[in-house]
Amino acid sequence: MNTILVTGGLGFIGSHTVIDLVKQGYSVIIVDNLSNASAKVLPVLEELSQKKIPFYPVDIREKKELEKIFQEHQIDAVIHFAGLKAVGESVQKPLSYYDNNLISTITLLEVMEEYSVRKLVFSSSATVYGEPEKMPLLETDLTGATSPYGRTKLWIEQILQDLCDANDAWDVVALRYFNPLGAHKSGDLGEDPKGIPNNLAPYITQVGVGKLEKLHVFGNDYPTSDGTCVRDYIHVLDLAAGHRAAITYLEKEHCRYEIFNLGSGSGFSVLEMIKSFEKAIGKEIPFVVDSRRAGDIPVSYADTKKAEDKLGWKVQKTIDEMCADAWRWQKKHPDGFEP
Ligand code: NAD
Ligand code: UDP
Repeated sequence: MNTILVTGGLGFIGSHTVIDLVKQGYSVIIVDNLSNASAKVLPVLEELSQKKIPFYPVDIREKKELEKIFQEHQIDAVIHFAGLKAVGESVQKPLSYYDNNLISTITLLEVMEEYSVRKLVFSSSATVYGEPEKMPLLETDLTGATSPYGRTKLWIEQILQDLCDANDAWDVVALRYFNPLGAHKSGDLGEDPKGIPNNLAPYITQVGVGKLEKLHVFGNDYPTSDGTCVRDYIHVLDLAAGHRAAITYLEKEHCRYEIFNLGSGSGFSVLEMIKSFEKAIGKEIPFVVDSRRAGDIPVSYADTKKAEDKLGWKVQKTIDEMCADAWRWQKKHPDGFEP
């Protein structure tokens, strides 16, 4: 397999994965409707990889436009990142989330079927574990969703399972990501959320550059060692390498449908993350403790054995590297891609 179509390839995780794939010798084609990405990411990707990368500014719900891409290129596999991802927004605008995430995936699968491209890596999420009862989280654990966003991930997983059950020619890997952060070593590619960040890492780095006054810690009365929530953070470059491992797996195995956790297997609390960022930034991060955020679970971290055994993949980077890399990007580009 040499040519990979990457949907959502100008977004945070997609862009880092594109760099990784191109560096490994894959030909990559990007489709992204720019709903949550800047067109300025493309020249950065081309500069960092020293390659021209075909890009289509297309909404993948537009079947005719998507078909044109499959007509123009001999695609071997697809990595499907495109989707809306903000949990809180999905509660406010459920129909947008169902429309965008479900219709885009179904349209993509129909076009793949039409062009006999039946190898897919899908971006799922640890959110599909809902409100789990035990840690670490295993791929076989019960699932459940607490938001429309989470439901789109769960339903897409089910659609993919049904498709693979119905047609033996399909091979699909669903990757359940834990909490991605970090950035490319150059400091020229990183997470660029629109508006006020929802996620912890970009919020802290924006406090670091002075764009936000202080961090609001959502609750310190959880049943954890310091009372703040614990998450499994993973460097976006490790995550990118996990996608490459999934593509290699699809090249070798007729796997039908497989799910893998992509996480580090360790958990860090919000206060531990603040400390690690303070080390990277070289100054204190002011914060206040607020009430709990609706829907947050106390602890989440992955069992990573399946990915280690079957994909031959595990994380390489530490929390300190994640924080240092995220900070390098934010410091160099305080206003992201669109100053
Ligand atoms: P992102 O928003 O940076 O990237 C998604 C990209 O998809 C964006 O560039 C956006 O413009 C594009 N897009 C959205 N809808 C589209 C459509 N209909 N047609 C074409 N392009 C479209 O998000 P990310 O953090 O890179 O996440 C990538 C994937 O991973 C998403 O599916 C997300 O749900 C999933 N995920 C992310 C996280 C996280 O914390 N970042 C965690 C678990 C899972
Ligand atoms: N969090 C916080 N303040 C923020 C953003 C996040 O205290 O401004 C906490 C949040 O409650 C959670 C952890 O940081 O416990 C990670 O949150 P994030 O939104 O990054 O990821 P999630 O695991 O919720 O998807």
